[in-house]
Amino acid sequence: MLLNFDAGPAALPREVLAQASAAILEYDNSGLSLLELPHRGKIFEAILEEANSLALSLLGLNDDYQILWFQGGGRLQFGMIPMNFLGSEATAGYIDSGHWAAEALRNAHLYGQSRVLGSSQADQYTYIPDWGAIPGDLAYLHLTTNNTIYGTQFHSFPETTVPLVADMSSEILSRRIDYSAFSLIYAVAQKNLGPAGVTMVAIRKSMLDQQQRALPEILSYRDMAKNNSLLNTPPVFAIYTSMLMLRWMQEKGMEAIENESIAKATLLYDTIDNSPLLYGVAQPGSRSRMNVCFRAHDDKHTQQLLDFAAARGIVGIKGHRSVGGFRASLYNAISLADVERLVDTIRDFEKTV
Ligand code: PMP
Repeated sequence: MLLNFDAGPAALPREVLAQASAAILEYDNSGLSLLELPHRGKIFEAILEEANSLALSLLGLNDDYQILWFQGGGRLQFGMIPMNFLGSEATAGYIDSGHWAAEALRNAHLYGQSRVLGSSQADQYTYIPDWGAIPGDLAYLHLTTNNTIYGTQFHSFPETTVPLVADMSSEILSRRIDYSAFSLIYAVAQKNLGPAGVTMVAIRKSMLDQQQRALPEILSYRDMAKNNSLLNTPPVFAIYTSMLMLRWMQEKGMEAIENESIAKATLLYDTIDNSPLLYGVAQPGSRSRMNVCFRAHDDKHTQQLLDFAAARGIVGIKGHRSVGGFRASLYNAISLADVERLVDTIRDFEKTV
């Protein structure tokens, strides 16, 4: 198998893939494939229940929160947030820390007013912008806590009484933060959680009464919550595999996950900082532990290193098409040994130049 540092769909642990594959052939001696299970039957009910309780427990959230599973990816959440929570006369705050943050903001204009409380766009999103004072009358404040394309990450969060809404797609459950500071957290599965096709939402139940307009049920957090994510036929495979990944994380423990994440990022950033050929893109104070973005001083080394790594079975380190260079994504399924392999490859490449 290749060693995959892609930003998503991302690597999953072999043991999770093995269990998911076995379940497709036959789910736990039930005589049915996972893909044939009735979504309102006892078996899937137990899978969903386990996924929900594992997610709450790993996030350190209590009964004030509910876990929901949506299709439609991050982009659907970009639309659903203002659709549900931004009245036409109200204003929502957004921190413009990258492409996905800007895409989320673009959707707010469709439903109400918005205010940008800090942007690093003029500097190619190389840092997390300052946000200044947060007006107390905002409907909510939206942030993208980890910016997948630019390799930046919030290392502290705005302190405000305004409900915080966060896109944590590319960092969910990689570090211990106070998740209860947020009223709504969403994360597409295909990075830290599982396969594409499902998005996990943790929502404070008091938010469910805040719906601002009539909506089709499938676009309403309130109605989805009332139906425990089973308004329509859910993506059973994606939820099951995410549950396996949550179990995997539970076994490791959040402390070990966070410590390994720090060790992985430190090793790779140190290698880049000490490289005669490479340099880091994000400003040091804003560096992401999840997506490490770097470039070659001399452009001709970019393709050469990509080819050198590919010959050693390392893929997915090409930067996003909009920024170029390199990006290595160090999500939870990537081990410290995997990063050591990448670092050895970079060092060996340097010797060839
Ligand atoms: N938010 C973030 C932070 C992302 O990195 C991405 C995709 N890479 C998205 C949202 C969009 O997710 P999707 O393609 O599932 O809509």
